[in-house]
Amino acid sequence: MGGVPSQLSIFNIFRRKKSSSPIRKKVSFDKKLIDRDALKVVQTISKAGFEAYLVGGCVRDLLLGHKPKDFDIATNAKPEQVNKLFKRSRLIGRRFRLVHVMFSARKFLEVATFRSGQVKTAKSGVIVRDNCYGNIEEDVVRRDFRINALYYDVRSEEVIDYIGGLEDIDAGQIHIIGEPLVRFEEDPVRMIRAVRFQTKLDFELSDEIKKAIHKQAPLLSNISPARLYEECIKLFHNEYGFKVYERLEKYDLLRHLFKQTRKNDFIKIALNNTSNRIKRNKPVTPAFLFAVFLWQAQNERYQIIKQKQKSVYLSMSQASEEVIINQIKQVSLPRWLTARIKETWMMQNRLERMQPKKMDDILSSKGFRMAYDFLVLRSQSINPELKSVADFWTKAQVGYKPLDTQSEYRKKPTK
Ligand code: ATP
Ligand code: MG
Repeated sequence: MGGVPSQLSIFNIFRRKKSSSPIRKKVSFDKKLIDRDALKVVQTISKAGFEAYLVGGCVRDLLLGHKPKDFDIATNAKPEQVNKLFKRSRLIGRRFRLVHVMFSARKFLEVATFRSGQVKTAKSGVIVRDNCYGNIEEDVVRRDFRINALYYDVRSEEVIDYIGGLEDIDAGQIHIIGEPLVRFEEDPVRMIRAVRFQTKLDFELSDEIKKAIHKQAPLLSNISPARLYEECIKLFHNEYGFKVYERLEKYDLLRHLFKQTRKNDFIKIALNNTSNRIKRNKPVTPAFLFAVFLWQAQNERYQIIKQKQKSVYLSMSQASEEVIINQIKQVSLPRWLTARIKETWMMQNRLERMQPKKMDDILSSKGFRMAYDFLVLRSQSINPELKSVADFWTKAQVGYKPLDTQSEYRKKPTK
C-alpha cells in the first residue's frame, strides 16, 4: 500500500463534509461470498474487546455481489495485541506494521491497525515511519477511493460509510478521497488502480480523476520496478485484461510501464486468451504476457543486430537480453521469468524450422508448451503465414502428450 494524505488534505475532507458521523446500512451478505476465516478473525478480535471490521475492496465487492479476491481486516488493536490473539500469526512490515494470520501455507489474512495517515520523517526528509496509529475516521481518509473506504461490522451486519462510498457504489462512480493531484502525487500507483477498478467494476471515473491522471501520469516512473511488477500482474491477470490495456493506453499510462510496447493484434489475442483461461480456472503465467508484450520490440532489435551478426542464435539472444534489460528499468521481472521469456522467444525459430530430426528434443523440452502456445497465437494474429507451422506442431503432439497448452505454467502462490 502506498503513501498517505497530507494533514492538509485530511483537514479539507472533513471540513467539506460538515459532519463526520457515518451512515450505517444494514446488509446481510451472501454467506457463500464471505470467507469464514475472515469472520472468525474479526470475531476473535472483537471478543477481546477491540473494534474490528472487514474493510476495503472486500466490502465493495460484497455489496456488488462479487466474490472478493481477498479479505482485509482493520482494527483499533495494535499489531502486537492482534499477534497475541492468534497462535498462527506473525508481525510483518517495517514501515507499515501488519499482522498476518495464517490458515495454511498459501492462505493468510491481513489485519491492519487503523492508521492516521501522518508520516514521521528523518532530518533528511526521508519517511522513516508512516505507521502512526489513528482512529477509524483517520483510517478512512488515508484510503484511495471512496468505494474502497467502507467498513463492515460483522456483529451488527452494518456497512459503515464515512465518506460517500455507498452512494458511489449505487451510482457506479469512482471518486478519489481528497485532492486528486495530491493523492496521485503521494502514490502514483493509485492511477493504475483507478483504471483497474473502473474496468473490473464497469464504473465511471470522476472527471477530476481523469484530469489528474492526465497531469500526473509521468509520476509512475518514480515507482519502484518491483512494486510495478506486482501491480502489472493485477492489471492483466484477470477476466478483463485487454480492456485494462486499452484504457492504460488511452490515459497515457501504458508507456510508463512498457515503453517498448505498441498495441497489436497479438497482444489483444493473448490478453483475451489469458482472460479465458482464468474464466475456466486454468493456470496462467506472467512470463507469457511479458513475452507477448515485448515480442515486437525484440523482433525490431533482432533485425538491427542481424545486419552485423551472422548467427541467428546470437542475434536473437542479444536482442532478447537488450529488450529485457530495458524493460526491467520500468517493471522488474524475476529471474525465473526472464529465463522463460527468453526461452519462449528462442524456441520460435526452432519451431518455425520444423526439422524432423529435432522433433523429439523439442516436444520433450520444458519450454515447449509455452512456446507452442505463443506460436499458435502469433499465427492467429500477426503471423497468419505461420498457420501451417502451428498445425504441424499441433499434429506432432497427438499421441505425444495431452494437449493442454499452459498446463505446465508455473503459478506463484497468492494471498
Ligand atoms: P482488489 O483486492 O480487488 O484488488 P482492493 O481494493 O481490495 O482491490 P487491495 O490492494 O487489496 O485492493 O487493498 C485493500 C484496501 O487498502 C483498498 O480497498 C484501499 O482501501 C486500501 N489501499 C490499497 N492500496 C492503496 C493505496 N495505494 N492508497 C491508498 N489506499 C490503498
Ligand atoms: Mg483486496
